[in-house]
Amino acid sequence: MKGLMLVFGFLAIFAAVGCASKVRYDNFKVFKIQTKNAEQRQMIEKLAENAESFNLWHSDDKEVHVMVSPQKLIHLQNYTRSHNLPLEVMVSNVQSLIDDEQPSKSTDDLSFGWTRYYPLSAIEEFLDDILAKHPLVTSEINIGTSYEGRKIRAIKISYKSGNPGIFIESNIHAREWITSATATWFINELLTSEDEDVVNLAQNYDWYIVPVLNVDGFVYTHETDRMWRKTRQPVEGSACIGADPNRNCDSHWMENGGASSDPCSETFAGTHPFSEPEIKALADYIASIKDRLNIMLAFHSYSQVLLSPYGHTSELTDNHDDLMAVAKAYSDAVKELPYGTEYTYGTSATSMYFTSGSTRDWVYNTQGIRLSYTIEFRDTGRFGFILPPIQILPHCEDTFAGILAIVKKAKELGYLEPKYTI
Ligand SMILES: [Zn+2]
Repeated sequence: MKGLMLVFGFLAIFAAVGCASKVRYDNFKVFKIQTKNAEQRQMIEKLAENAESFNLWHSDDKEVHVMVSPQKLIHLQNYTRSHNLPLEVMVSNVQSLIDDEQPSKSTDDLSFGWTRYYPLSAIEEFLDDILAKHPLVTSEINIGTSYEGRKIRAIKISYKSGNPGIFIESNIHAREWITSATATWFINELLTSEDEDVVNLAQNYDWYIVPVLNVDGFVYTHETDRMWRKTRQPVEGSACIGADPNRNCDSHWMENGGASSDPCSETFAGTHPFSEPEIKALADYIASIKDRLNIMLAFHSYSQVLLSPYGHTSELTDNHDDLMAVAKAYSDAVKELPYGTEYTYGTSATSMYFTSGSTRDWVYNTQGIRLSYTIEFRDTGRFGFILPPIQILPHCEDTFAGILAIVKKAKELGYLEPKYTI
């Protein structure tokens, strides 16, 4: 019976959007809704829990971005009108953005150039190629296995022993494609650039980089539903699939409304801490090398903001001033580039909303990694998750300048002393 329910739930999603193979978003719109207080924001978020017609793209203390199906458009308009909430169209047709994002046949080339987004198989080939070309300074890390049995692969770049370590986690949320595009670019840059700053960064730090953590979800976004966010593990007793992997860690799990207990919610915390095999595997791996790690960066999109611990409380950490100084260094450095991209920063709970069980907070609270950030990439609400491929390279430059500045500031503040003896 449970299996049957799952099948029905699955079919319903496809029926709702009228396609048998790939979920389509024809005439789905994304609206920016201005909210004045937490109560109004929560009202919209609650509405967005009905995943078939609404989908939450972003929420902070000023506005909420919600995707809505054409059938429910009137419903949303009536709702916001009756609550006096100003409404503005952010995306007029989500499917056209998805179509524009796809490479045309003539440019359908899987060799890496960062002018398009690549499927998992191409990212794995890229990793194989890098590992083969740089055998003396790279090694493959097998983080573990996903629910659907895929390998979660990562790379370690180390030029010498005794380096402090920096961990980069990327694409934990499946639809945030710009994150793995950036992670792969960064790997390539560290290994091939002759720029003095890059060489210094590559040689004097050990880099642990997971380009795609949520491998099942990522494949699902390429093959079935571009807007999928969660893992792909079924939930017992529910027709809804998957949990929010970034709410699944065993650190203040489900505290203070920082996640949902509803399996159909986009922020479902999982049935228990580390219920998602991908997150359990990541945690086990990080725990095994925690003494080698000084900084953790979790790549996300979108909003252009650096978020520090905590997410579960608005209390500040004991090294809050340092966390802000390092985040400010990132923001200042990125703004200086010709693109002028602006990043804000603050603690997760005070700048956005309460989140519990994130990997960022778990490493900070339990693994002694004192500089830990979520970085929400471009943009601030024009294309959202479907950032046009033409922005990949400029965005990668932004990120590089930012990370360079983070490392410089962290070193200045004494956070990059090795914590282990050789
Ligand atoms: Zn995310």
